[in-house]
Amino acid sequence: MSKPLLEVRGLTKFFPIKQGFFNRTYGYVRAVDGVHFQVSTGETLGIVGESGCGKSTTGRSIIRLIEPTAGEVLFEGKDLVKLPNEVMRRMRKDIQIIFQDPYASLNPRKTIRQILLEPLHVHQVGTKAERIQNIEEMIEIVGLKKEHLDRYPHDFSGGQRQRIGIARALIVKPKLIIADEAVSALDVSIQAQILNLLKDLKKKLNLTVIFISHDLSVIKHTCDRVAVMYLGKIVEIADKQELFRNPCHPYTKALLSALPVADPLVKRARIILKGDLPSPTNPPSGCSFHTRCEYAKDICKSIAPTLTEIYAGQLVSCHFVQEGNDHIALHEDTWRKEVKHEL
Ligand code: SF4
Repeated sequence: MSKPLLEVRGLTKFFPIKQGFFNRTYGYVRAVDGVHFQVSTGETLGIVGESGCGKSTTGRSIIRLIEPTAGEVLFEGKDLVKLPNEVMRRMRKDIQIIFQDPYASLNPRKTIRQILLEPLHVHQVGTKAERIQNIEEMIEIVGLKKEHLDRYPHDFSGGQRQRIGIARALIVKPKLIIADEAVSALDVSIQAQILNLLKDLKKKLNLTVIFISHDLSVIKHTCDRVAVMYLGKIVEIADKQELFRNPCHPYTKALLSALPVADPLVKRARIILKGDLPSPTNPPSGCSFHTRCEYAKDICKSIAPTLTEIYAGQLVSCHFVQEGNDHIALHEDTWRKEVKHEL
């Protein structure tokens, strides 16, 4: 694996809950709670989990659209968390974000030309003539035409607007792209076009991507490695092939059991999680998954497991997977038989 472009260490974001006349803080929403991962140059890391698990807050904290409460975000060795605002603003040339909602993320009063010129102007990229040339090339790279440049966002469909959002992110030639639920607001047929476009651009421009999605089939199509988040923490991180072939954490198994199987002869037992996602204002003690885990034992209620390497490159946060407990290993064998036709 090439050296990491980005290394996230203990990233934490707690949002204070304020109330009353004096606006006192009486608690915290623990949106991201000590997350560690690395992203190598040229790779796509997927972050997946239920809505409210902290995946989008993680993405936004990396680029400091949300200020992290604690932790380090090392980008090419520099800790972004410690950078003064002005330096961080300049660093955003190298790290761009593609937002979920293509309707809300484009200024309706500006033409596409003005929208694409803005980042070039802010980051002082090229001369006037070079900027015009860049824009005309980029609009064609994302599959639109030069004549679209003088139209307004409301003249475009959702898929076309997301192409414009991608062009705006790529126009300054960033090294890292954070795609935050970039296709969730689009129809399924348009989703496929945008995913294929992102894949092609990644290859063509040698991009490194963090792809955030609640949809495992989108993650499976797009990513090289996958981090699974639950209640503000990463519970499993592995190479995509390994994660889909041999999920180890009970939460990952449950998520994957909901994916449709391509082979009609294979019947996979769906694992239905009991209960709802606990509130991040008051997460369960010990392992935060213990209230919904069918394998939970007493130790799970009091001691939080740590993310530990179980197989090469596959890290899991579970007491019993670390100890090679039989009931999970047994389940794993059954899983292997069920999914081997699929991959
Ligand atoms: Fe389940 Fe316990 Fe493992 Fe948590 S540590 S996932 S509760 S078995």
